[in-house]
Amino acid sequence: MADKVKDPVCGMELDKDEAAATSEYMGTTYYFCSASCKASFDREPAKYAKSSKRGCCQ
Ligand SMILES: [Zn+2]
Repeated sequence: MADKVKDPVCGMELDKDEAAATSEYMGTTYYFCSASCKASFDREPAKYAKSSKRGCCQ
């Protein structure tokens, strides 16, 4: 079974194997359902990476 990951741009769940594009930001790899989601992420990575953080208490 492939690992499930979440596209941080559109919120869609996908298998790592199915990802159409990936991008690395702050040492974390993000997976995208399409090249257009990757393009949106690359434009504003901080915006999308922030919303995918878990366990925030600040
Ligand atoms: Zn997407």
